[in-house]
Amino acid sequence: MYTVSIPEIPIVDSIKLPSRETAVIVVDMQNDFVKPEGKLFVPTAPKTIEPIRRLLDNARARGVKIFYTKDTHYEGDPEFTIWGEHVRYGSWGWEIIDELKPTERDIVVIKTRYDGFYGTPLDDLLKVYGIKNIVVTGTVANICVLHTAASAALRWYKVIVPVDSISALNEFDYYTALRQISFLYKGILVRSVDSLIFE
Ligand code: ZN
Repeated sequence: MYTVSIPEIPIVDSIKLPSRETAVIVVDMQNDFVKPEGKLFVPTAPKTIEPIRRLLDNARARGVKIFYTKDTHYEGDPEFTIWGEHVRYGSWGWEIIDELKPTERDIVVIKTRYDGFYGTPLDDLLKVYGIKNIVVTGTVANICVLHTAASAALRWYKVIVPVDSISALNEFDYYTALRQISFLYKGILVRSVDSLIFE
């Protein structure tokens, strides 16, 4: 119906981040979103598993704090009228995928909205650990990733997003997320998870 062109979106080739002031947030990499049998499968999500796993290995080796968000809904949640039932508390679909299972050193934040900060202790926990930079990964790019990145930026955290670590339901949504994170929230887009240097 419409043809639109994507404005130039700056993507940097690499970035150095201080390990002690940086956290990685893995947004909603749960079975319902990432696995084909899931209730709200994002077709490009599986190809982000391996990059995110490499990023987590790198971060853990450097002592970088890791947070996960876990989208969570209960019986009769109004969000079900928008998306259908998904990530119902306690279900298989609600669990974080086996490939990216959190360790006991990581922090898992249960959230009920798109925004990982809304009604959660995330901001407090980031402050407790002296975090200033947040690397945001996961799914869905223009929904929970964008809202969480935006919410972090509005709190003046520096937001970094490796473009190979997020996924959306279609290309338009993916590029919309990149554009908003970069243009509106002044987040830094990085070409690959392998281009992050924790020092
Ligand atoms: Zn949801």
